[in-house]
Amino acid sequence: MDFELSEEHQLAYQSALEFGHAEIRPHNAEIEASDDFPAWLWQRLAAQGYTGIAIPEEYGGCGGDFLMAALVARGLSRANGGIGMSFGAHLNLCAHNILRNGTEQQKRQYLPALANASIIGALALTEPNAGSDAMGIQTTARKVDGGYLLNGSKVFITNGPIANLLILYAKTRPEARSHGITAFIFETLTPGFHVARKIKKVGMHGSPTGELVFTDAFVPDKNVLGTENEGYKIVMSGLDLERAFFAVSAIGGLEAALELSLTYARQREQFGQPIANFQLIQAKIADIYTDLEAARHMAHRCLWLAQQGQRISKECAAALLFTSRASMRAADSALQIHGGWGYTTDFEVERLWRNAKLGEIAAGTNEIRQLIIARELLATP
Ligand SMILES: Cc1cc2nc3c(=O)[nH]c(=O)nc-3n(C[C@H](O)[C@H](O)[C@H](O)COP(=O)(O)OP(=O)(O)OC[C@H]3O[C@@H](n4cnc5c(N)ncnc54)[C@H](O)[C@@H]3O)c2cc1C
Repeated sequence: MDFELSEEHQLAYQSALEFGHAEIRPHNAEIEASDDFPAWLWQRLAAQGYTGIAIPEEYGGCGGDFLMAALVARGLSRANGGIGMSFGAHLNLCAHNILRNGTEQQKRQYLPALANASIIGALALTEPNAGSDAMGIQTTARKVDGGYLLNGSKVFITNGPIANLLILYAKTRPEARSHGITAFIFETLTPGFHVARKIKKVGMHGSPTGELVFTDAFVPDKNVLGTENEGYKIVMSGLDLERAFFAVSAIGGLEAALELSLTYARQREQFGQPIANFQLIQAKIADIYTDLEAARHMAHRCLWLAQQGQRISKECAAALLFTSRASMRAADSALQIHGGWGYTTDFEVERLWRNAKLGEIAAGTNEIRQLIIARELLATP
């Protein structure tokens, strides 16, 4: 039994870690203030080959696998959670989705530009009236000559305000639930599309989140992803991978919590000695480490299994449930270790605290993850 990452995976992670430290961290204050993913950074990520990971060379990528891509997201997230999240939406939610489900023509048309980040990708499922109830989406795609006309709106779309390309889900049979959904590849320059607003968030700054509106926006037949009315299969097949990917990248936040806690506990003195000497502080540090170790093993294993094409919904839901709670606990302890300074914007730790909360909400909430786990367990006699 080998619990260690391969040398290749370890190198990819180390490279992203060093890149994040040298090229992202120095810009964190301006990213935090603007809440924009810096345009120049996409080109730097592409130059490193990161935006082409797990995309075969014949489609302009640089090979590797989904675990490697998630490890890069983890390294970037250690420097800045928002940047790691936007990177994941572009690569995992959009590019890898086309790789798994697209036709040969769709892969040749879109993957090279996504791999070199000359276009930015996103995935648009959630709507104002359909979040946890994803099959209840109301955006319609009405068949017309040569394609479909889209009408409706999407909300909370990561990269939505800047995306050139969306994986978009709409109802082709509005009267049906799961069997009426079709997935499309949608180019945002299409007339009838507009970004209604960039949503202001509590955390994950640097990852722009959008509300998008479609008014008779045309999408050609050739841009149907998969089969008409079978979009739910694409939603479901992607979700395991998405949850495992998100779990691995969230570990970057846990690592940052540990690092900041160790540094501050050694530096800060009270009662004539470093607070690191106090056992109640040591207990918090030990708990952060324990959460980190457990989350790391669970998330890596799940992503590895999910990328073999296995349906492991219960395991992936559990990995993200655990990792997101662990991240929240760790960020909270790290802030507590910083005392009053932890509650100010002078110290980085408050950003981790705000970012960690999203792990409990996005890619299906913790409650939905619990339902998935319980449903599977109870269905097995
Ligand atoms: C920053 C951010 C980025 C996001 N990025 C994307 C993206 O790129 N693409 C995309 O499509 N979506 C994205 N989302 C949407 C995200 O997936 C949804 O917010 C999430 O699925 C929850 O949906 P909701 O917000 O509508 O909450 P609701 O579904 O309204 O849930 C509200 C509360 O009710 C609970 N609840 C709902 N149903 C049940 C039930 N059956 N049993 C028990 N409790 C229940 C929920 O757990 C939650 O606590 C993003 C969200 C955020 C905040």
